[in-house]
Amino acid sequence: MLNTEHFDADIIVAGAGPSGLVVSCEAALGGARVLTLEKRGEPSWSRAGNLTSRVLELFASRGLADRILKRAFELHTEPRTASGIWAGLPGLRYEGLETDYPFVLFLSQIEIERMLTEHLKDLGGDLRLRHEVLGFDQDETGVSVRVRTEAQGERTFRARYLVGADGNKSSVRTAAGIPFEGHAATKYAYNVDARIRNPYPGVSTFFHSEAGWAMAYPLRDTVTRLAFIDAQTCRGPQSESTSFDEAMAMLRRVHGSDFDIREVEAITRFHDAMFLAARMRERRVFLVGESVRIHYPASGVGMNFCIQDAFNLGWKLAAVAAGRAADSLLDTYEQERRPQIEALLDDVRRQCAIQFNFDDEHAALKRFLQDVLIPMPDVNRRLCENLSGLGARYERGEGSHPSVGQRMPNLKLTDAEGETSSVFEQLRGQDFLLLDLTGGVAPRALAGLRMKTASLTAPVSNSSLQGAATVLVRPDGYIAWAGEQACSEYFPFEELARWLPSAGRLADR
Ligand SMILES: Cc1cc2nc3c(=O)[nH]c(=O)nc-3n(C[C@H](O)[C@H](O)[C@H](O)COP(=O)(O)OP(=O)(O)OC[C@H]3O[C@@H](n4cnc5c(N)ncnc54)[C@H](O)[C@@H]3O)c2cc1C
Repeated sequence: MLNTEHFDADIIVAGAGPSGLVVSCEAALGGARVLTLEKRGEPSWSRAGNLTSRVLELFASRGLADRILKRAFELHTEPRTASGIWAGLPGLRYEGLETDYPFVLFLSQIEIERMLTEHLKDLGGDLRLRHEVLGFDQDETGVSVRVRTEAQGERTFRARYLVGADGNKSSVRTAAGIPFEGHAATKYAYNVDARIRNPYPGVSTFFHSEAGWAMAYPLRDTVTRLAFIDAQTCRGPQSESTSFDEAMAMLRRVHGSDFDIREVEAITRFHDAMFLAARMRERRVFLVGESVRIHYPASGVGMNFCIQDAFNLGWKLAAVAAGRAADSLLDTYEQERRPQIEALLDDVRRQCAIQFNFDDEHAALKRFLQDVLIPMPDVNRRLCENLSGLGARYERGEGSHPSVGQRMPNLKLTDAEGETSSVFEQLRGQDFLLLDLTGGVAPRALAGLRMKTASLTAPVSNSSLQGAATVLVRPDGYIAWAGEQACSEYFPFEELARWLPSAGRLADR
């Protein structure tokens, strides 16, 4: 029977913050019709201010990293720093990481949202501002989403899937009846975004004393973010709003100066409240980003983890909506990302235990961590890999090659016509990528599949790939399968069919 049911889109995304925009872009790139509904008008303020290595790699695999870097250099004389913090303690060094982006890039959330909005438009996505999602009903075939619009009052849109990327107070999560469990705020920190040039000599500055913890980095060359935890007030009752004079008094206590600030863009308080959604999926409805969790923004990686979740979900939704993949692929979203989120929350707890305490015992612990443990190469590497997202490992089946579940590095490639490129360039169209690592001729691509093929230009030097001769890379850049035989000897139809069922049908021909 012909299905005549009307859908306004394949996928409706509630919220156009970083998570919602990335899911929307990824779903649109995968060929889905996407409708993105955002409650507010244009964004006006940045919470996050940086991008980490793995997120830059993901953006590079969509051809966006150069645009991001260019914008960052327009706004800052030097937007990159190889130094980072853990638990507020300086000393992390990113430059040893095996990536094209061994640094933290300063770029404010508002700029990232603007760039993703443009990208979504280029991909044909439909973004509607001042559209507030109120709730939804779902049935066997789709989701009807109730929306309040400024121009047309209340109306309903229908799609096959709904994604709640609508932040920590998510209406989608509430309507889905998904519990959000955790604890309220007990400790507080501040950001003062001041219209001054960075008063410190380095790009980013971090220090702590008995007065508290201090950080500075540029949002733009002309606006500096001065963040701090004031030991005197961070655990006390907080007033409703913070006056300019109160903020300057805390700055003088913790940073040692108010830097003669005359004008501020924003004074904001943030805290250690932590909540986690009990589930990330309710049949045809998914949660992503801060609708899944909130936490203290320790080490400035929260948005970066949300973006990685969104990359994980977006291509899968598009593949299932288009009938290229089975519904069970969508279950792998929570299976893969939930352990990453839980590990992040544990790390934030550890960091809070150190960062918000200023007594003698904690001061001694901080000195030991900062001067002895963090500089150790293995410790430094582990912490940098965790924070940057490069260390994420998705579960691999028993007996599979150790590289399965890891992200594929950006190696140089040659295709069957002898054209050279790189892994990230080949992933731009969100195809699967089958790679011959033996230096042989690239295997033939299979018509009718979103899959590319290439071979490695130079022998594998990356230790995690040792022993592998063929690698299947997913559209989001993670290794789906790796085998010990070259593609010319064994073509992995079965392994490919696990992700793209149509590959199995092609093998039968
Ligand atoms: C002070 C502070 C500093 C931070 N610094 C960093 C940092 O340096 N680095 C970092 O990586 N992370 C940082 N973070 C975390 C980061 O800001 C968040 O992780 C990120 O904003 C989450 O993105 P999101 O898209 O999931 O949610 P949001 O950014 O909250 O976006 C949700 C969107 O949904 C919209 N919306 C809400 N309800 C509805 C509805 N009913 N219908 C339609 N639309 C709706 C909202 O208007 C909003 O645009 C910081 C957070 C704080 C508080």
